[in-house]
Amino acid sequence: MREFAYHEAADVQGAVATLSKDPEAVFIAGGTNLVDLMKLGVATPGALVDVARLPLHDVTELPDGTLRIGAMVRNSDLAAHPEVRRRYPMLSQALLAGASGQLRNMATTGGNLLQRTRCRYFQDTSQACNKRAPGTGCPARDGEHRNLAILGASESCVATHPSDMAVALAALGAVVHVSNPGGDRRIAADELHRLPGERPERDTVLDRGDLITAVDLPPLDTARNSAYRKARDRASYAFATGSVAAALTIDNGMIEGVRLAWGAVAHKPWRAHLAEEALLGGPATREAFLAAADAELAAAEPLRDNAFKIQLIRNMTAATLGALAEGQDR
Ligand code: SF4
Repeated sequence: MREFAYHEAADVQGAVATLSKDPEAVFIAGGTNLVDLMKLGVATPGALVDVARLPLHDVTELPDGTLRIGAMVRNSDLAAHPEVRRRYPMLSQALLAGASGQLRNMATTGGNLLQRTRCRYFQDTSQACNKRAPGTGCPARDGEHRNLAILGASESCVATHPSDMAVALAALGAVVHVSNPGGDRRIAADELHRLPGERPERDTVLDRGDLITAVDLPPLDTARNSAYRKARDRASYAFATGSVAAALTIDNGMIEGVRLAWGAVAHKPWRAHLAEEALLGGPATREAFLAAADAELAAAEPLRDNAFKIQLIRNMTAATLGALAEGQDR
């Protein structure tokens, strides 16, 4: 591992100022992904600015009902938070579906959003990879891609985003707060991550020096009847092969509110806007759920070994929405 300098930040302004002075510095919080990448030689920062002790550890309810999550709130604490469990169960379930208990105790809300793809070529410095070393190629396209993207990929990169939590945040319409030396700004969670296009080295729309300080969950009655389902190759401590974050409210048998996002299908959490539009105001039937999934999945372009994800996501979507419909009717 390359030697690096270490700075501990006491406040947000100090953190972003310290980082801005050193082009080789990066932020570190829980370190559950970055330290692995440093050991592998994938990340080689010259300095770490430790933001784990910044006073961003609270979950606060704002007067309008928004739940503000500090960026340093640990994944395990957020999953167990009573208001998250009551008002946004899909988020609690998504967090608990991710990683292991030990990792969730370390991982932070901000860091979770910024974890990098687990594409095997990205993590192996002996291989070409446009994301790690722009311009070198994408061996995954003709190589090992069983768990890579079916939606929104490019010739340059077919990676998937690994976070479960981010899928729930996209579905919930969360808002990400960012600070940098130029000031503060807000980004819709659904727009934080980007599709690869010709710049797969950029996972998000964040600029260098941006620090995530909080995530807002807007009040959303539909979210009280929500769930996160994850398919994976083993029962725990594995990344998704496909996942569904869904929320549903029904009035007189017709869909009054719906949120839907998918994980492990694209370079970003995939908010299924077309499916939502197809469902809204219509009947809450399995046929409607499947038709809505089909409408969204019409754009899928699977690779040689990952076409199974289309049927997987289709079935999981219908099953998750079906369970939510049934639960609400009781
Ligand atoms: Fe690299 Fe993306 Fe290709 Fe994987 S899919 S090898 S991350 S360019």
